[in-house]
Amino acid sequence: MNKVQEILSKLIGFDTVSRHSNLALIDYIIDYLNAYDIRSHLVYNTDKSKANLYATIGPNVAGGIVLSGHTDVVPIDDQDWDSDPFEMIEKDGRYYGRGTCDMKGFVAICLAYVPEMLAANLKRPIHFCFSYDEEIGCVGAVNMVNEIVTALPPIEAVIVGEPTDMKVANLHKSCNILTTKITGVEAHSSKINLGVSANFAAAKLINFLSNMLDEFKLNPQHELTELSPNYSTLNVGLLQGGTAQNIMPKLAEFSTDIRTVPKDDVDKYTKQYEDFAKQVEANMQKDDPLCKIEVIRGNSVPGLSPELNGKAEALALNLTSENDVIAVSYGTEAGLFQKAGYSTIVCGPGSIDQAHKPNEFIEISQLELGALFIEKLIRRSAS
Ligand SMILES: [Zn+2]
Repeated sequence: MNKVQEILSKLIGFDTVSRHSNLALIDYIIDYLNAYDIRSHLVYNTDKSKANLYATIGPNVAGGIVLSGHTDVVPIDDQDWDSDPFEMIEKDGRYYGRGTCDMKGFVAICLAYVPEMLAANLKRPIHFCFSYDEEIGCVGAVNMVNEIVTALPPIEAVIVGEPTDMKVANLHKSCNILTTKITGVEAHSSKINLGVSANFAAAKLINFLSNMLDEFKLNPQHELTELSPNYSTLNVGLLQGGTAQNIMPKLAEFSTDIRTVPKDDVDKYTKQYEDFAKQVEANMQKDDPLCKIEVIRGNSVPGLSPELNGKAEALALNLTSENDVIAVSYGTEAGLFQKAGYSTIVCGPGSIDQAHKPNEFIEISQLELGALFIEKLIRRSAS
């Protein structure tokens, strides 16, 4: 555990809040792996200010296991911390610091066990895939996943080490962001015949979304008992429109997220909404042709679906000695790996209850369970 502690403490010291570069942390990992003659492959973002890193330990053959983690953390803005978030401290059997739980703890375990991996004479490889920008919608990993599909030999399973208390999660919803921008025509509120209200159009669109949510509630995916709620959801989280009480608003804008269960096709529902927006726009344009409604599809994180006889699930249940799978309420990069054709589950140390909060911590006992998982994986990969 000393080595995990030492590495985790280093990782916490890098301020890798998603809006910053993660390259200092990536350089640290490159140097660390270099010392063991392990080559790092980098997949950069467009301005080369951030990078994913993947690396292979053991023979470059088929049947490897991917251990996946993200290097970025959520911001500390407006959070009241009792200690420096970027300096790890140990207290009461816990390590405190931003990212201890989500999810540098898992990354630290992976790195700490490199010497054991090398000593074990692996028959099949263990691959590390460490990403950036997970916390802003799993955008960093996309290019890395695309690259490893051709760059790495066939992979048996992907373990995404997000905090699950070392339970095995085979399911989470997709998350899809939409932004709706409405342009009407401004007029004094006593002269409604001269204007077109963007807010009234927004109300119609939001009512449509509200009805869609009612429909989702009536169609739960019953077999997904571990998922709560077990139906698709949507939310209008931010709504802005107008400038003054006595002015018909010219501009309105709102953002929506749609989170779907596996049986619901998010494209179908998005298309229904876009079609309805076209109707509302056409009605507005009867009053003034300058009126416009734009529905902008934003980031989309694919869901993770339970696999029939999934290899990753069987492997993780075996390594954790758990009997049952769980669902998680948050999105992860697991959906990206699964969409690329890999058998994938989520399983990692720490509780999501501590993630993203001030005084984030991970129980040392959770790191020990995570380490045990990796030890068993090493033995399995060596036999
Ligand atoms: Zn995370």
